[in-house]
Amino acid sequence: MDRLIYLDNAATTQVSEAVLTEMLPYFRQNYGNPSSVYQFAGEGKKAVDRARRQAAKLIGAEPEEIYFTGGGSESDNWAIKAAAEAYAFKGKHIVTSKIEHHAVLHTCGYLEKKGYDVTYLNVDAEGKISLEELKAAIRPDTILISIMAANNEIGTIQPIAEIGKIAHEAGVPFHTDAVQAYGHIPLDVDKMQIDMLSASGHKMNGPKGIGILYIRKGVKIRSFIHGGAQERSRRAGTLNVPGIVGFGTAAQIAGETMEEKSQKERELKDHLIERVLAEIPYSRLNGHRTDRLPNNANFCFRFIEGESMLILLDQLGICASSGSACTSGSLDPSHVLLAIGLPHEITHGSLRITLSDGTTLEEIDFVVDELKKMIERLRNMSPLYEDFLKEQSKKQKEVKDVQ
Ligand SMILES: *Cc1c(COP(=O)(O)O)cnc(C)c1O
Repeated sequence: MDRLIYLDNAATTQVSEAVLTEMLPYFRQNYGNPSSVYQFAGEGKKAVDRARRQAAKLIGAEPEEIYFTGGGSESDNWAIKAAAEAYAFKGKHIVTSKIEHHAVLHTCGYLEKKGYDVTYLNVDAEGKISLEELKAAIRPDTILISIMAANNEIGTIQPIAEIGKIAHEAGVPFHTDAVQAYGHIPLDVDKMQIDMLSASGHKMNGPKGIGILYIRKGVKIRSFIHGGAQERSRRAGTLNVPGIVGFGTAAQIAGETMEEKSQKERELKDHLIERVLAEIPYSRLNGHRTDRLPNNANFCFRFIEGESMLILLDQLGICASSGSACTSGSLDPSHVLLAIGLPHEITHGSLRITLSDGTTLEEIDFVVDELKKMIERLRNMSPLYEDFLKEQSKKQKEVKDVQ
């Protein structure tokens, strides 16, 4: 393959050069265990402290409120399971939404089997929850609200500050899965009244297998991994020093470049959306038009199988996805597209394109040009499309006859 056009940055991102450079010394030079007492371990300890400050600063948190984990899924599991346990004395009701990542949905499903009661809020056609529905869902026995900051499939950003306000007025802890938002859009745990927040390194040009859970001081929480005294005895296990350093550096860079990077991505993404909607018939944009991640575009093309599109794109060296990386490989329609009210047959023709700050106008134009040709070809082979055209011409004829 002579060229690669990587447009699946919601699935994972490339570790940036600067992040890798910072990480490298912690593999072979400063490999000491930061929990050891001798001086040689000191470099690692200092690096972890710095990374904790960097991770905290990006969301206006205190460094002591940051716990390093093995990634976004672990952070989600920890936040929800531990809150469920710690607050069980008060009640067993959790409020979340229908469009959460499976790390949240399946954790809630597990808790339902353990006797917890979970309310899954609906979303509107753009993928937003209703604040009124949220208020109405809160009960005296509600112990946690977990709503994602931005959706990984359709990019819709939730009104996090308003959700935080409602949660706090009701005295319910608020967790947000901010894996897609952290490092991409501004977040502030105080202004938004967030009590727990999950983020992941590999979604923001950091390494895979490292994440954070922010836990506000005073929030009751249980230890997740039992063992050594790492992470204030709440998450045992020898610290992943290179990963932690990579996470911190990526957070620092994301903070410094967010405005410029998102502006660039937004312009290209808008260009992509305009061209697709104008030039490809029977296409639609999924997600909110403006309250969406700067790098996310998600389309449905009628009469098309998303999987066939992905295979043809792959042959051109273009990486994109239908739905999310986690659902592809299964033939189940996306739970997110179903939740925004799309019928099954339309959800199958979805395509998610997520940009990086390295994406170029030329790449986007190439992708749209190829998509146009490809979709026309696929439709010409589709019996559904044939039926549709026949139906259309029948209707037109009827109109003419009436005239
Ligand atoms: C990727 C993702 C996760 C999982 O993070 P990992 O670090 O891959 O475990 C959780 N939530 C959302 C919204 C994601 O996009």
